[in-house]
Amino acid sequence: MRIVLLGSPGSGKGTQAALMKVRLGIPHISTGVLLRNAAKRGTELGLKAKTIIDKGELVPDEIMSDMIEERLSRDDVAIGFILDGYPRNLAQAKSLYATLERLGTPADVAIHIDVDPEHIIGRIAKRAKEEDRSDDTEEVVRNRMRVYHEQTAPVIEYYAGRGLLTHVLGDGPIELVLERILSVLRVDQAPA
Ligand code: ADP
Repeated sequence: MRIVLLGSPGSGKGTQAALMKVRLGIPHISTGVLLRNAAKRGTELGLKAKTIIDKGELVPDEIMSDMIEERLSRDDVAIGFILDGYPRNLAQAKSLYATLERLGTPADVAIHIDVDPEHIIGRIAKRAKEEDRSDDTEEVVRNRMRVYHEQTAPVIEYYAGRGLLTHVLGDGPIELVLERILSVLRVDQAPA
């Protein structure tokens, strides 16, 4: 199963992807995690990315497509993957399409986790305390939301146009959102 997960900052994509990984037994690929790990290791790419992330902007497409291509070429994705945080604009969506076509592994489904924007700021404020993320300050979050609406929201339409899109209501308890996602995927919902 090859799944693209879409949703605004604070929509719970990362949380759901981690749970889906356990229930579905396929890798969870988070570009945010890959970038933050590169920053922690202090690589040239990681440090460059960190200055961009801390402003709430998007890391350049070319860096991201190289990173994704490398990740999707590894053996563990042969059984499928959950992509979280990519694609984030139309250029990335088209690049991903080309990469997956070339690998002979097109995406099966795009799931949009739809959350009431009113709930987002509160969720992110809570996460900022728990995870100590340097891009979770109010000003940066506001910029991330603006970037999301301008650049990432069109990606939802892109997947709708390809007939791959499903919306899942992201409000409510974490377990309930997970059950909604699994039911879209028609996965047995008995707890593991
Ligand atoms: P969230 O979904 O809550 O914004 P992420 O961990 O997915 O958090 O991403 C954090 C930051 O990493 C983004 O604001 C952006 O700066 C950078 N980033 C992640 N994925 C991409 C991508 N596909 N393209 C460009 N930048 C990205």
